[in-house]
Amino acid sequence: MRMSRMFIPTLKEVPADAEITSHQLMLRSGMIKKMSSGLYNHLPLGLRVFRKISDIIREEMNAKDANEIFCTGIIPAELWQESGRWEAMGPEMFRLQDRTGKDYCLGPTHEEVFTDTIRQEVKSYKDLPVNLYQIQAKYRDERRPRFGVMRTKTFLMKDAYSFDIDEAGLDKSYKDMFDAYTKIFARCGLDNSPVQADSGAIGGAFSAEFMVKSEVGEDEIVFCKECDYAANIEKAESVNHEPCKEEMLELEEVHTPEVRTIEELQKFMNTDASKCAKTLIFDADGKSVAVVVRGDRDVNDTKVANAIGGVIEMDMASAEMVKAVTGAETGFAGPIGIKADYLFIDQEVVDQSNLIVGANKTEYHIKNANYGRDFEGVVGDFRSVQHGDKCIKCGGELEIMRGVEVGHIFKLGTKYSEAMNCTFVDKEGKSHPIQMGCYGIGVERTAAAIIEQHYDDNGIKWPLSVAPYHVIVVPVNMKKEEQVENAEKIYKQLESIGVETILDDRDERPGFKFKDAELIGIPMRVTVGKDIVDGKVEFVLRETGEKELIALEDIEARVR
Ligand code: ATP
Ligand code: MG
Ligand code: MG
Ligand code: MG
Repeated sequence: MRMSRMFIPTLKEVPADAEITSHQLMLRSGMIKKMSSGLYNHLPLGLRVFRKISDIIREEMNAKDANEIFCTGIIPAELWQESGRWEAMGPEMFRLQDRTGKDYCLGPTHEEVFTDTIRQEVKSYKDLPVNLYQIQAKYRDERRPRFGVMRTKTFLMKDAYSFDIDEAGLDKSYKDMFDAYTKIFARCGLDNSPVQADSGAIGGAFSAEFMVKSEVGEDEIVFCKECDYAANIEKAESVNHEPCKEEMLELEEVHTPEVRTIEELQKFMNTDASKCAKTLIFDADGKSVAVVVRGDRDVNDTKVANAIGGVIEMDMASAEMVKAVTGAETGFAGPIGIKADYLFIDQEVVDQSNLIVGANKTEYHIKNANYGRDFEGVVGDFRSVQHGDKCIKCGGELEIMRGVEVGHIFKLGTKYSEAMNCTFVDKEGKSHPIQMGCYGIGVERTAAAIIEQHYDDNGIKWPLSVAPYHVIVVPVNMKKEEQVENAEKIYKQLESIGVETILDDRDERPGFKFKDAELIGIPMRVTVGKDIVDGKVEFVLRETGEKELIALEDIEARVR
């Protein structure tokens, strides 16, 4: 492609609302363009990178005999009602109606659709196992879209679903996907780690998240320095925690103030009730028990939780509020998620029976609540796992890091097949629910994670495998015929052997062109300057900045 014809709207300045490197560099290099909060359009360079990642995913999925299909993004409500998730999904799901008033959603994930597809076609054990996947747009009304394409309202996901006759089959399918994911992320140039995870809202017995270690990650991950133990923080904290078995009293309503201001908060924290309760909270509607400690799973929630001893419940907390109560500087400002769909409780809290629970609403507190009897959830104490703690597996030292979740694999078991009557008939003619697994990768988030691990002050350093182009050919002086002609020749020659090449044919100063080449991160540069009279060009590697004068006839060998 000729640079003069390319649509690469690069920016010289760092965009003000872009907080993290990958977001800044994607905007600066003209890969993506923001349309609205959480909505980004893919521009040519971005699209090429996302396609490269998709192609790698495709190759590795196909290598495991998975079948690519493509489903619609609009999904009829009936399917979700069958699985029980029409209600359960909550505000993250975009819902819409057609002209007749029939309900649909914009698919946030496709378990129901794939289960429905399989139940219609698969009858016998002979038809199994099957693994189906697609690379397709997902829609999620995220509470807080941010960090560019890391968390958006619509994104490309590769989602795969496996169908097996028994658990042994599911184990094999899961292992296949685990291996495929390991290869995919390695080929993308990502230093990543699979960690044990809880399966959250999707359900099922076992799951792993593929985490890219990065300071900008929204998740916390726990590693053992001695052995291969690795888990996300929720999982690490949830092990070995049993519900309390102390004497249980009757539920009783208590009068507590609405907590909205610093003064109210201080008062609330000073009551005996709050001490005994350690504050554990319901949603104001009394639906799900909500959590403070992890709230929105924001980086800052942990800081807040640490500062306040793991307990506080408010819609809004500001740095001042937290400081007023605890004296701690947290730098936190903004909403804390109150609508968490899982409960995260301090183990100490669970150990005491007869808690006070409530929402930050007047008269919305109840005494004598008991974990297990009155509410359930993921039990854990975020402070039960800390840097330097002992590994539950080998006793070695644990360390905690931040990570970006790029992929997630689940054993679903028969959760969906039972709810949706997706069965097969065995040799004896007996019917059984199909064993399922599901496996997701976020395409754009993977690209962002790659940038987080591959950049310098001048821009992106794409690994060759996902680079939008492999080589950029830069004639130094567009007025010099021999430079222009040779650059053109090299460009055509590289294209002809399948090396994806940009010819920077713009009439600009060389420094300007080099800056752009570095910003957009093309792995190799061929500079055609004055040495061309001796048949030589400069060959530059973006990764190391290494420069070398090489002969024209050696270019082909160098770029392969
Ligand atoms: P998160 O914990 O970050 O919200 P998730 O656990 O909800 O992600 P999954 O349902 O496991 O996500 O989806 C599979 C993959 O899709 C994730 O591992 C991630 O790579 C990607 N993904 C999920 N949500 C988004 C989003 N809002 N924007 C971009 N990619 C996303
Ligand atoms: Mg999510
Ligand atoms: Mg997650
Ligand atoms: Mg996930």
